[in-house]
Amino acid sequence: TDEFAGQRITVAGLGVSGISAARALAGLGATVTVVDGGDGEKQRATAEELAQAGIEVRLGDGETLPEGTDLVVTSPGWKPTSPLFAAAAEAGVDVIGDVEVAWRLRASRSGKPAAPWLAITGTNGKTTTTQMLASILAAEGLRTAAVGNIGTPIIDVVLEGEYDVLAVELSSYQLHWAPSLRAHSAAVLNLAPDHLDWHGSMAAYAADKGRIYEGNTVACVYNVADKATEDLVREADVEEGCRAIGFTLGTPGPGQVGVVDDILVDRAFVENRQKQAQELAQISDVNPPAPHNIANALAAAALARAFGVRPASVREGLRNFHPDAHRIQHVADVDGVAYVDDSKATNTHATEASLAAYEHIVWIAGGLAKGATFDELVQKSAERLRGAVLIGRDRALIREALARHAPDVPVVDLDRTDTGAMSEAVREAQRLARPGDTVLLAPACASMDMYLNYNKRGDAFAEAVRGLAAQDQ
Ligand code: ADP
Repeated sequence: TDEFAGQRITVAGLGVSGISAARALAGLGATVTVVDGGDGEKQRATAEELAQAGIEVRLGDGETLPEGTDLVVTSPGWKPTSPLFAAAAEAGVDVIGDVEVAWRLRASRSGKPAAPWLAITGTNGKTTTTQMLASILAAEGLRTAAVGNIGTPIIDVVLEGEYDVLAVELSSYQLHWAPSLRAHSAAVLNLAPDHLDWHGSMAAYAADKGRIYEGNTVACVYNVADKATEDLVREADVEEGCRAIGFTLGTPGPGQVGVVDDILVDRAFVENRQKQAQELAQISDVNPPAPHNIANALAAAALARAFGVRPASVREGLRNFHPDAHRIQHVADVDGVAYVDDSKATNTHATEASLAAYEHIVWIAGGLAKGATFDELVQKSAERLRGAVLIGRDRALIREALARHAPDVPVVDLDRTDTGAMSEAVREAQRLARPGDTVLLAPACASMDMYLNYNKRGDAFAEAVRGLAAQDQ
């Protein structure tokens, strides 16, 4: 903890992780300045609060590096191309993220043994898998928490809690800024184009994701169906004895976990030498038992088994787990049509998984595309689409892909980016749907053009659906 004492640290970004980092570092004896390009009412109020803790906040300028800075701690959302980082490079000042700070604090805390990290990344399924893993670890009786992109900021967890092991969700941004992180074991769930505007290219995005395997001591868990994840394991520099463990929805080979006759089985960590495979759980223990979610459960199980968790605890932990809101959440049935909120499907890969789960769909989509293209998604899903309703800033990209690959699918282009657009979208979807169909909000885009976040977008959808249901009575 001495590492940060006496240093002059610039924290980039006055968001949840920036505030947590600023407070923690000031508490450890650093001189902290927070910089942020915004200058709103709420930010000024936060700045005043931080000033009471002796933390200076400079609003309205996120680009100038304060004089005398020894270290920059950045929030995950800041682009690597930000002028602040160019200034830091010029001045020979390191830039790290909140996860790196948490990792260093964890490694240097005196007195208490440091809890190992089981780390998870991937384009989709991170939060779900991390929470499943924490549930499994808890079922084993271990003191644990799901952290990273979830809940309490990771620095606070590391400083304040006492844990046997942590289940850590890591975004590609966080990995980018966490050079010394070394997990006990780690998993990359899948790899598909996302956030390319931030990383610059698919190769750079993959390289940041691959960092999660660096220095692993026990297991690198990869997706057998997604060769790119296996390639990342091969390229990683790991500790001697660290094993590559694949997860598959098919029959597992030796050194893999997979599925046989609707049972999740482990052929990687089998204690009894006579035994070929260890039964872990039934498919019906996974909530919901959709294919992509069974894959998440297998990845969580592999990490838990790498940590020595017993099979019975894997089953109990999976049974205890229930997914967060806005992830393929059934909202209501109206006139025989199911309305499902998958607002968390913020990229094409996630949307592909949810479109694959239903037979006849009226698809509500659109928002911020983040540099994505929609041709492949539309091609793969065209025959399931009863119709599409488009909202949000980049909806033309989806409309054009539909025109190219699904010319017969009726499309309603709402040409709206206001928050009220959702209730019109839901009414249009109702018009297109037939009994037995599913109206699915799976936007394939980020929400920030219209809503504060995907939660608010999902809430708007649910409210509009409840409006239909009320009219119906
Ligand atoms: P993340 O934390 O990576 O964003 P979540 O668990 O919050 O992941 O799920 C995000 C979205 O991705 C949801 O819409 C969900 O339906 C979908 N999803 C979850 N797991 C997978 C997976 N393994 N493959 C594809 N899509 C997935």
